[in-house]
Amino acid sequence: PPKAKEVRIKILATGICRTDDHVMKGTWGTKFPVIVGHEAVGVVESIGEGVTTVKPGDKVIPLFVSQCRECKPCRHPNGNLCIMSDIMGRGVLADGTTRFTCKGKTVYHFLNTSTFSEYTVLDEIAVAKIDDAAPPEKVCLFGCAFSTGYGAAVKTGKVTPGSTCAVFGLGGVGLSVIMGCKSAGASRIIGIDLNKDKFEKAMAVGATECISPKDFTKPISEVLSEMTGDTVDYSFEVIGNLETMIEALKSCHMNYGTCVLVGAPPLAKMLTYDPKLLFLGRTWKGCVFGGWKSRDDVPKLVTDFMA
Ligand code: NAD
Ligand code: ZN
Repeated sequence: PPKAKEVRIKILATGICRTDDHVMKGTWGTKFPVIVGHEAVGVVESIGEGVTTVKPGDKVIPLFVSQCRECKPCRHPNGNLCIMSDIMGRGVLADGTTRFTCKGKTVYHFLNTSTFSEYTVLDEIAVAKIDDAAPPEKVCLFGCAFSTGYGAAVKTGKVTPGSTCAVFGLGGVGLSVIMGCKSAGASRIIGIDLNKDKFEKAMAVGATECISPKDFTKPISEVLSEMTGDTVDYSFEVIGNLETMIEALKSCHMNYGTCVLVGAPPLAKMLTYDPKLLFLGRTWKGCVFGGWKSRDDVPKLVTDFMA
């Protein structure tokens, strides 16, 4: 049962994100045994003492980036990575303990959410109440993939109208980056993926063309430069691969380009790059959950979708 300032929810729908798979492959650090899953919609079943922002019956989205509204990132206008979020893999709720056991043995939480379960317990600061009419099987994606990708383009990258964008990786998150670039008014959006089966969906959500690195012998940054006659204005790495992180950086304009790193960095790996790539003026940034302040912004994104 939920303790003080905690909420127990019944999961209605959950998506699968590559980050869950990173845990299974050992490239994302967390404690085992663990219940993964972090992209879901549920309904509040019961609340602990002192919970004031949700009540039983409310439709909610669990938030892997919490919003305590008190820490420095929460109070900063440009911050969103609440210090109570469990990006580093503590595997426990805010009070330092877990709510899951199996045969008397402790089971850890993942990203404070653990949605591959019929019921889960969340800290109140990691719960967003959403529109009751929102379809769970669709809006569960606002718990990670959609909000992350869309925010990476409109909020972190700040894509401008008429610009050219390149998106490396066309999974759930990359497709959402494309939607963000499109809604920001980009005139050319180039999707890049090894798997050509991803191209049809990418074109349907707004890519203007798609290419596979398998069709070229030269680096994709050079291919993009030839395709555009110059370079792209914005590039997004949405895979989590060290080589494509550098390729994405090289792909954006050497002087005023912006590259956003969205793919999760593999555990304990380092990058080596030529600092001249930044010296000339490029901006290299990253974002978790698209830069959104989760409790404030997720309900608005869902309402926007419903409209
Ligand atoms: P996904 O596996 O569905 O999509 C990745 C795509 O990249 C696939 O289509 C794959 O074919 C393609 N790909 C793989 N290697 C490639 C290469 N070398 N060149 C070109 N294409 C290649 O993954 P997803 O669920 O969309 O997540 C994407 C990444 O974003 C993951 O690393 C995930 O952990 C990360 N992520 C980050 C955040 C965040 O807050 N920053 C949130 C969610 C997911
Ligand atoms: Zn995710």
